[in-house]
Amino acid sequence: MTLADPTTRALTTEEVDSLRRDFPILRERVNGHPLVYLDSGATSQRPRAVIDAEVDFAEHHNSAVHRGAHTLAAEATELFEDARTTVASFVGVGHDEIVWTSNATEAINLVAYAMSNASAGRGGEAAERFRLGEGDEIVVTEMEHHANLIPWQELAARTGASLRVIPLTDAGTLDLEEAARVIGDRTRLVCYTHVSNVLGTVNPVEKLTALAHSVGALALLDACQSAPHRPLDLRALDVDFAAFSGHKMLGPTGVGVLYGRAELLDALPPFLTGGSMITTVTLDHAEYLPAPQRFEAGTQRVSQAIGLAAAVRYLDSVGLDRVHDWESSLGRRLVAGLADIPGIRVLGPALGDERAGLASFDVDGVHAHDVGQYLDELGIAVRVGHHCAQPLHRRFGVTATTRASTYLYTTPDEVDTFLNAVADVRPFFGVGR
Ligand code: PLP
Repeated sequence: MTLADPTTRALTTEEVDSLRRDFPILRERVNGHPLVYLDSGATSQRPRAVIDAEVDFAEHHNSAVHRGAHTLAAEATELFEDARTTVASFVGVGHDEIVWTSNATEAINLVAYAMSNASAGRGGEAAERFRLGEGDEIVVTEMEHHANLIPWQELAARTGASLRVIPLTDAGTLDLEEAARVIGDRTRLVCYTHVSNVLGTVNPVEKLTALAHSVGALALLDACQSAPHRPLDLRALDVDFAAFSGHKMLGPTGVGVLYGRAELLDALPPFLTGGSMITTVTLDHAEYLPAPQRFEAGTQRVSQAIGLAAAVRYLDSVGLDRVHDWESSLGRRLVAGLADIPGIRVLGPALGDERAGLASFDVDGVHAHDVGQYLDELGIAVRVGHHCAQPLHRRFGVTATTRASTYLYTTPDEVDTFLNAVADVRPFFGVGR
């Protein structure tokens, strides 16, 4: 990658053309066409630096961490913990506030299960603040990914707490007046996404967190669609927990991140138990290590964490603010182009309102799966279905949509190729012009 001037605010088309060469998969042809990858919202592609970091680990340092007394184990441990530091500083928090998980889903479940362990009396006095029972409320929003909804449904079912929901406006934003009514004295936890993976809506994190804290509740942020795409300072946002996934930010699959404020992680009882998370074990009792090791039972995903750190360094070298600007302009191009095509309904904020670089849409008379298959024949990869957000789709009267999502390597030409193909969908299926 050759970046003309990393301090220049806007990424240029030439720079993007150059950085694309770092991503081997972008040279692929699919069904006889150059690949147009518009599914980064699901899983992003990896630059050579990430692939090399994993290979280098496998070839030169492969070993379990925090265990062996040998040289390779020491090297692996150092790389693994350095990776934690890299990721921690990427989101503005401390080394010990980052817990490795398999993905964001596991990170959110970790908090939910740890809280239900606390509710069952585990963790002693320190864990009292996490105990839930009848009369307590957990608040989510109507736009949540299932990963930030079902764990809370289950936690409510296990503890007797109830789940309350902040509804959406027709414009696809959170109804903040309702939020102020829903979040109240009984609220113990407020869980919401930073950016909707379907609508592209960017939620007002400071406002929601302030509302949660004003009633003494904890705030958990699903940062899956924000950490990869915009500068993120979790400390400044003042959230208590946050979750994101490596594979959505140029990193490998199999690694996710839970951020937890240090004093909270230290008080939270573990979710998974076993090796590597203990100090002393007898046949009927165990003492646990402090965070983050307390939450990392068993052999860890070492090469993935190292790969994720390489991804973070790559993003840092480009500059998250520039990535964000680039994608915002691609998002506007997407939404403006889709709005011009007859029979297309785009969900989420209108053109001109803030939204992420993705668009989900319904094609009148054509099922999303047919749209996806038509585009795939042309080498264009999009996501179709409910995108793990069934309640949200129900709210807008559809069961499935087609989603195009961009990243730093997406070009305006690719967006135009996609738009031209979408314009042909209805005529191809014999509906509309
Ligand atoms: N939350 C949001 C907003 C997402 O977009 C996703 C993935 O699509 C997830 C949570 C779950 O991420 P993972 O499947 O990597 O655990």
